[in-house]
Amino acid sequence: MNPPDGSQRTCAGFCNDKTMAKTYAQKFYNSKKWTNFRQMYLSEHPYCERCKQAGLIVPAEHVHHIIYITPENISNPYITLNAENVEALCQTCHNREHHGNADLDDELMFDENGNIRKREEGA
Ligand SMILES: [Zn+2]
Ligand SMILES: [Zn+2]
Repeated sequence: MNPPDGSQRTCAGFCNDKTMAKTYAQKFYNSKKWTNFRQMYLSEHPYCERCKQAGLIVPAEHVHHIIYITPENISNPYITLNAENVEALCQTCHNREHHGNADLDDELMFDENGNIRKREEGA
């Protein structure tokens, strides 16, 4: 797994986020295969992999797809269920990955499920 540049290092803003998930992805994220894979991965990688590199021990909350899921590859387990293509990330690192900012700004907030929302939605 070797993305040519940084452009693929995102999972289209919906990993683990059922409310924001695109319809095609929602089915996948609700599937037993993914739930089991995610649980297994998190049990093997209980701490944020990026924070760990920086010497910090932070519990991971997200399993993030390095090469993001598209309608074309969503049925490809080498992308979706490949331990080489996911990272265990904490909320902060996941937020930074998707929004380029560790801290939530005026536009974004977390709801009670830890999902990122726009404030205008009134959540
Ligand atoms: Zn982190
Ligand atoms: Zn992600």
